[in-house]
Amino acid sequence: MTEVADLIVVGAGPAGSATAYHAAKNGLDVALLDRQHFPRDKPCGDGLLPHAQKEIRLMGLGDWLDDPRHGIFDGYSIYGRKAVLTGESPPDVNGKRGYVIPRAETDQALLERARQKGARFFGGVKALGLLRTSSGRVAGVEASADGESSGRLHFEAPLVVVADGVGGFAREGLKNEQNGVAIRQYFAAAKGSRRNHVHFWMTEDLTRWGAAYGWLFYLGDGRANVGVAIYKDVLQRSPHTLKEMYESFLREEGVAERLDGAEPDGPAKSWSLKTGMLGAKRYGQGVMLVGDAGSMIHPLSGEGVGYAIESGRLAAHWAYEAHAREDFSPSLLRGYERQLQRLRGRQHEAGLRLVRLHNRFPGVDILEHLFAVCERDEDSLQTLARIFYGEASVYELLNHPRTLSLAAAGAASSALRKVLPQKASA
Ligand SMILES: Cc1cc2nc3c(=O)[nH]c(=O)nc-3n(C[C@H](O)[C@H](O)[C@H](O)COP(=O)(O)OP(=O)(O)OC[C@H]3O[C@@H](n4cnc5c(N)ncnc54)[C@H](O)[C@@H]3O)c2cc1C
Repeated sequence: MTEVADLIVVGAGPAGSATAYHAAKNGLDVALLDRQHFPRDKPCGDGLLPHAQKEIRLMGLGDWLDDPRHGIFDGYSIYGRKAVLTGESPPDVNGKRGYVIPRAETDQALLERARQKGARFFGGVKALGLLRTSSGRVAGVEASADGESSGRLHFEAPLVVVADGVGGFAREGLKNEQNGVAIRQYFAAAKGSRRNHVHFWMTEDLTRWGAAYGWLFYLGDGRANVGVAIYKDVLQRSPHTLKEMYESFLREEGVAERLDGAEPDGPAKSWSLKTGMLGAKRYGQGVMLVGDAGSMIHPLSGEGVGYAIESGRLAAHWAYEAHAREDFSPSLLRGYERQLQRLRGRQHEAGLRLVRLHNRFPGVDILEHLFAVCERDEDSLQTLARIFYGEASVYELLNHPRTLSLAAAGAASSALRKVLPQKASA
């Protein structure tokens, strides 16, 4: 079978469906492929921050978002080893409101919008590799359909958007390594106060080896989404598996209280993360990478749905531009990368550098000292919250020199305490 289109999108998660929606809205003929059949689950915390819900509203799904069955949050609680940070979501042009909606539902709604705009969806179709002309230009995608033994499918187009998450479709020097991993599980009938907050824990057990956190988010139907996220280098240093860390997290006081008597609703599932933008090449001749495929997860919050949709919207714009100019060259598609860098590069890269610094010296507790100072200083706390919500870069902390110097002094004294006993016993 051969299908001809203007644009092929590989993967129908938030990044792929958003690309397909915006490209079809601009008049392009879009073929959207996914190796899975929908609706499908995707391991996720299900949290949609204010900027993510803005992107979803832009796709005409405002009424769907406001369904009273959906979980809503407008505040956060972060429990460090000692410090507790809590407050309202930072005020922003996108409002304060975020949502907690199962991904099976969100991804289906986004896909339906793409189809309503005219994108042609092919479920159960796995993309195997790029088709190229004799001169090496991208000519489409070779694929196989599940249950089909009748050979290969050809999807022909001069432009391909790769939205396959952590899937292995676009190797060819484009993809970055997966640098994180997370696990999540649903629990029925969770208890607890502040159900309008997203709750994060950075416990002793989780952070001893570097950056990791656990979360509990309330869905609108009484269930909770509970999980743990960790950087892979940190996991490698730890003597524990992700599953063991997760099980120990469930026994943490604040978590156990909320889950007292709550039954697990399905198994714990884990999935990889690609954070921080650095290292990934997101464009080439006839190809653009969006969402997790382009390492678009925020390195501090672990949030990726909003960035997946946003990058898909930008890629769709450049797909339109490429067709209008009949130019699918890397020099034109670099415009997509430039736009993404201007919007998110600073935030993601600075966040990743902070995490790497933290992970390099886990005993120094850089983040815990920062939290301790922010707990006492409302202005710094607001900035920290804006960083976690993806509204500011880590560099904005430079506007709080006193906070930084106090946090640095705390970190230095922790480091000294670690070194001195060793010296004494040497
Ligand atoms: C446990 C966990 C918790 C998280 N919590 C949050 C959260 O609370 N909020 C948040 O915003 N983000 C969260 N994230 C990150 C978020 O899940 C991702 O950033 C998001 O799914 C990215 O969307 P995407 O469209 O790029 O990729 P995906 O959602 O992974 O979609 C990729 C699609 O591509 C398809 N595919 C793969 N390979 C092929 C192929 N060869 N051919 C055809 N189709 C293919 C897959 O079937 C899949 O449907 C979390 C991640 C994890 C692992």
